[in-house]
Amino acid sequence: MAEILVLVDHVDGEVRKTTLELLTLARRAGEPAAVFLGSGYHEAAREALGQYGAVKVYVVEAGEFEQYLVVPKAEALAQIASSSGAAGVLLTSSPEGKEIAARLAVKLGSGVITDATDVTGVAPDLITTQSVFAGGYTVTAQVTTGTPVITVKPNAVTPEPAPATPAEEKVAVAFSEAATKARIVERKPRAATGRPELTEASIVVSGGRGTGGDFAPVEALADALGAAVGASRAAVDSGWYPHAYQVGQTGKTVSPQLYLAAGISGAIQHRAGMQTSKTIVVVNKDPEAPIFAMADFGVVGDLHTVLPQATAEIQKRK
Ligand code: FAD
Repeated sequence: MAEILVLVDHVDGEVRKTTLELLTLARRAGEPAAVFLGSGYHEAAREALGQYGAVKVYVVEAGEFEQYLVVPKAEALAQIASSSGAAGVLLTSSPEGKEIAARLAVKLGSGVITDATDVTGVAPDLITTQSVFAGGYTVTAQVTTGTPVITVKPNAVTPEPAPATPAEEKVAVAFSEAATKARIVERKPRAATGRPELTEASIVVSGGRGTGGDFAPVEALADALGAAVGASRAAVDSGWYPHAYQVGQTGKTVSPQLYLAAGISGAIQHRAGMQTSKTIVVVNKDPEAPIFAMADFGVVGDLHTVLPQATAEIQKRK
């Protein structure tokens, strides 16, 4: 069976959920092989990858991945894709994943599809599904040239375990001069919030224009629930919350067990980023707000009153 490469998304060796989602998809299409680039590879990473069906892990440990922008990653992946004869490459649809995918596709002379929400078929005939125009249309597409390079949106599929014992192959990569042209001079870590990562959280509490810029009740409820905080574009554009937390067409896609939207009207571009949430709870003072149409539970009221009451109630029950 043909190998489907999955680029491992990790933080210092800790494998992120998006990789497990990609392995789940890769398993349906062929033989999943993980590609781990960078430092921090350890037994726990191999176990996590094996747990979700990776039959092989290619490991490239090189300082270049930390020192330079994405070009070394694209070069390493291209080398492995060529030498292994891979029938497809899956990456996470993050800004970095998409840039690597584009560069990789150029190197392989392949077609690339970004922001897929599903991948079906058997390699090399991989069929992707994309949701475009804020969910208005569903497109099915297929790469017809070279090794398909596909980025998949986080939370598009539920990771399903399928334990395997992956073989390990250390790969040495000779980087080109071009790979080391743009060096990282400084990293500024985002202030730690202690909250889960937005795209991985099982509960998200989001605030919109209705907060009037006061996100304290949203954050307090999120903390009581162990949730991540999200924001609508109106809140982000007003400078009330950083863009990294924007949910929607031009922000992040989330698919938590519980999504609570406070002071958000439910514009199509916001819905595009949260409509696959399992349970949707809405707090809005306008009973006609369109977002009520997609709510499992709705509260008509002022979020500045409702959210603190909910927070107090949750804390009482802890
Ligand atoms: P509004 O639409 O102004 O709604 C505010 C809501 O809060 C209202 O329903 C009101 O009844 C309620 N409210 C007011 N006060 C209170 C209160 N005290 N208590 C309770 N409820 C209250 N938007 C996104 O969110 N994400 C995106 O990624 C995104 N991408 C876009 C891309 C494009 C190309 C375009 C054109 C637009 C995009 N938008 C996006 C913007 C989108 O169209 C909406 O403008 C935006 O989602 C509105 O945000 P909102 O719901 O917070 O504000």
